[in-house]
Amino acid sequence: MKNLNIALKLKYLHYLKNMGFHYVKPIKEFEIKESFELPSDMSALKSSCMSCHLCELAKNRNNVVFGEGNEKAKIMFVGEGPGETEDKTGRPFIGLAGDTLTKMIEGAIGVKREDVYIANIVKCRPPNNRVPAPSEIATCKPYLEKQIELISPKLIVALGGTALNALLGQNYSIMKMRGNVLDYHGIPLIPTYHPSFIIRNPTTAKKPAYSDMLLIKSYLDKI
Ligand code: URA
Repeated sequence: MKNLNIALKLKYLHYLKNMGFHYVKPIKEFEIKESFELPSDMSALKSSCMSCHLCELAKNRNNVVFGEGNEKAKIMFVGEGPGETEDKTGRPFIGLAGDTLTKMIEGAIGVKREDVYIANIVKCRPPNNRVPAPSEIATCKPYLEKQIELISPKLIVALGGTALNALLGQNYSIMKMRGNVLDYHGIPLIPTYHPSFIIRNPTTAKKPAYSDMLLIKSYLDKI
């Protein structure tokens, strides 16, 4: 285990060097500890995430988009990664896709946006809104895993195929899996279409997404 940790650290250092980072005099946050563990309280986790430079996305970001909402939420929404507006403001889902998500949450499910928790698979904007690379997802995922552990939601809603597959480590088709109740480490997970997909495909996606919201609502009513 110890050797694995050292090997992982060396791999990260090598990766950073290849990305053009240079060695600097060690400062406290970079001290090599015996094992790498993320903090177990939300504000310390957020601070650690805000100063993360573990993947290439850190190079072009304006803001880290950690996530926001009720830290005791029963329901947690997970998207793919920040877009342009989110990168500018540091808040998840506040652009066009965010307006649609808010309508889904408040209009269809009937809960206030501030009562749920909203986060993304990757916390920094992929250039030109491309899909995050598997290595970026793998590097960023521990932050999300910790957020889920701390919030301990009763239900997770995966918004789109990237979120679904990153969470479950699968290669599912969102078309086939949406509207099913799956399992994320004992927490029910319902995948639905990503709000941006609904905006682009209103005639085919709106109805099924609405029925997913009703399923989510009925699920929440039972909790
Ligand atoms: N799309 C996402 O997946 N997340 C956001 O925060 C915004 C748009």
